[in-house]
Amino acid sequence: MFDYFTAKQKKLFTPGPLGVSLSTKEAMLTDLGSRDTAFIDTVKFIRERLVELSGASTEEYTAVPIQGSGTYSLESVLTTIVPKKGKVLILENGAYGRRQAAICKVLNIEHRVESFAENEQVCPKRVAQILGHDSSFTTVSVVHCETSSGVLNPVVEIGKIVREKAPHVQYFVDAMSSFGAIPFNMIESNCDYLVSSANKCIEGVPGFGYAICRTKHLKSCKGMSRSLSLDLYEQYMGLEKNGQFRFTPPTHTMLAFRKALEELEAEGGVEGRANRYKANRKILREGMAKLGFEEYLDETLQDAYIITSFKYPTQQNFDFKIFYEKLSEKDQVIYPGKVLDADVFRIGNIGNLHPQDMEKLLQCIEEVCSEMNVTLPLS
Ligand SMILES: *Cc1c(COP(=O)(O)O)cnc(C)c1O
Repeated sequence: MFDYFTAKQKKLFTPGPLGVSLSTKEAMLTDLGSRDTAFIDTVKFIRERLVELSGASTEEYTAVPIQGSGTYSLESVLTTIVPKKGKVLILENGAYGRRQAAICKVLNIEHRVESFAENEQVCPKRVAQILGHDSSFTTVSVVHCETSSGVLNPVVEIGKIVREKAPHVQYFVDAMSSFGAIPFNMIESNCDYLVSSANKCIEGVPGFGYAICRTKHLKSCKGMSRSLSLDLYEQYMGLEKNGQFRFTPPTHTMLAFRKALEELEAEGGVEGRANRYKANRKILREGMAKLGFEEYLDETLQDAYIITSFKYPTQQNFDFKIFYEKLSEKDQVIYPGKVLDADVFRIGNIGNLHPQDMEKLLQCIEEVCSEMNVTLPLS
C-alpha cells in the first residue's frame, strides 16, 4: 500500500509541478461546499488580489480562474477571444509558443507562427514589420518567460508596438512561469489578456489557472468560444452573477491558493519573491560554473531568474538518464531540456526553494558526477 506519510519528500528543481510550503498544504484541510460563503469569499479575494498583482485596477480588469492546468487557461483564452474569422500572430521562440500554435490548430483558429531562435528573444522590430504589412490579425500572443529555455521576452516593447501598429488587436501574454516573481504590469505592457497558473511562482498547489482580462473586451466575447467548459466569457459571467463556478470548483486548491497569496505578501510581494529566486539562481549559476557546466544561453539573456538550461557535459561517462536518476535517489529532481537544437537539461529555482536547497543540490551534483566517473571541474 502506498504510505502517504512516509513517501519521500523530494526537492523539485523543475518548471512545475513545484514544491509548496507546509502551511499552504495545510490550508486545504477544510471541506467547503461550492456555495459556502467562506468559499465565495475566497474566490473573490483571489480574483481581486490577482488583478492587483498585475498592476491593474478591478475597474478595468478582471481575473477569471479556470479549472485545469495552465494549458487549459491558455486554451480558454484562445478559444474565447479570437473571433470566428480572426487570426492570431504567435511569436514563438520555444515549446510554449509552439503549444499555442498547437491549440490554434486543434481549434481551427487561423494563425501565423513567427519563429525566433530558441536561444534568442522575440525581436520587437520584426513584430513591427509584420504588423506594418499585414492588417489581418485580431490577436498577437507571446510567452513572457519561455520556460523551455529560460529566455525572457520583451513583452513591454512588443505591447507598445502592437498598440501603435494595430490598436484594435488584442495582446495576449503567457506569463505562466513569471507571474508573481517577475514584475509585470498590464497597463504598462498594453496587455489585454494574461495567463498564469496556481502552481508556478505564486506557489499554490496545482489544479487551476487564471486569465487576467481587460473586462470591456472579455464582455464582447459572448458566444465566441469553441468549447463549453473552457468558455472564458461564460466562466466570467457565472462568477460575476453569484460568485460561483459553473462546474465543480477546485475548492481545496483555491483555499491553498489564498494561503499562498498571503504568503507571497508576507514575503514582500513580487519584489520579495524575486529576491529569493534571484538569490537561489545566483548560487546555482555560480556553483555550476565552478563545476565547469556550461549554460545554454548567452550572458545577455540571463534576465529571467526562473530556470537555467545547462549543456550536457561532453565527457563520455556522462549519461543524462543516469545523472537524473541518481539525483532523484538523493531526493533532488531536475528536469530534461526542451530545446530542439541542443542537448541540455534544466534546473529550476522557483517554488518552495531556498538558498540552502540550492547548496544541497550542488553538493549532490558533485557526488553524482563522482559516482558516474565524470571528472570535475569539466573542461
Ligand atoms: C508551465 C507552463 C505552461 C503550462 O503548463 P501546464 O503543464 O499546462 O501547467 C505554459 N506556458 C509556460 C510558459 C509554462 O511555463
